[in-house]
Amino acid sequence: MSTLPKLAVAKFASCDGCQLTLLHAEDELLAIADAVHIANFAEASSRLEPAPYDITLVEGSITTQKDRRRIVKLRSDSKYLITIGACATAGGIQALRNFADHQDFLRAVYARPDYIQSLATSTPIAAHVKVDFELRGCPIDKSQLLEVIASLLAGHRPRTSSECVCQPCKRRGTVCVVVANNQPCLGPVTQAGCGAVCPAFDRGCYGCFGPAAQPNMLGLSDRLLQPRMDRAQSARFLQTFNSYAPEFSAAGQRLWQLAGQPKPLHPSLASSPGDTHPAAVGQGKETTEE
Ligand code: SF4
Ligand code: SF4
Ligand code: SF4
Repeated sequence: MSTLPKLAVAKFASCDGCQLTLLHAEDELLAIADAVHIANFAEASSRLEPAPYDITLVEGSITTQKDRRRIVKLRSDSKYLITIGACATAGGIQALRNFADHQDFLRAVYARPDYIQSLATSTPIAAHVKVDFELRGCPIDKSQLLEVIASLLAGHRPRTSSECVCQPCKRRGTVCVVVANNQPCLGPVTQAGCGAVCPAFDRGCYGCFGPAAQPNMLGLSDRLLQPRMDRAQSARFLQTFNSYAPEFSAAGQRLWQLAGQPKPLHPSLASSPGDTHPAAVGQGKETTEE
């Protein structure tokens, strides 16, 4: 019986890409395995040990009734609960349903939508239970994940960047794609953590790490995006992997409104008329009971 802290990795609605980031930490995985007991990680092993766990990494968003019940149980079973990736921290790309008719997506994707039992919304884990730390990205960054695990084991709060992508972009000497190529880029409003990888490969940042602290969304959408694309294109550019992150959600809705194609939040997510802040998130309305 191991006396090491127990680590669990749980999956909700997601693509598994963030869990793969942990598996891809090949050089560091052995050191992690020396420091923690990997008790429940279905992507890595079929040997699944029951709770309680010391650290639980949670990937994915809440999209079913069963998810709701499972995350509450997992929270009570975990000393520290860390959400990893855009799905878990902002609802992910599947949160596009929060601004549309969920049934339209079901009819477009599935031959028999009547077999699908899901909620009309996709919501982040923090909308349902207390989260101890959120790690952004689609997928997350390996170094940040290792920093979080090492910090928790050492008993201090993880330190991750609070800069926007422009800062590491400048430091690595990348020529700005906005200036040089007239490409749109969300770097000025996106949290750093990836090393500004996209501009280094001649493409604009599309915001996969979610909003930076106090982003100037008005300046970005009116001065940086709209001269390069129309309002609907600007809204789509903002509302991808982190469409339901508060700042991107509000800016995207404003642009859709200006474009004459309003896309309000699902009624269950707005606590009062006009409220667009996901911190006011409800618990999601069911379209089909499980
Ligand atoms: S955040 Fe991105 S990489 Fe991670 S599980 Fe969601 S879709 Fe996959
Ligand atoms: S390329 Fe994007 S991230 Fe880099 S400096 Fe320009 S706007 Fe900022
Ligand atoms: S540059 Fe932007 S889109 Fe590219 S990985 Fe970094 S945060 Fe994500």
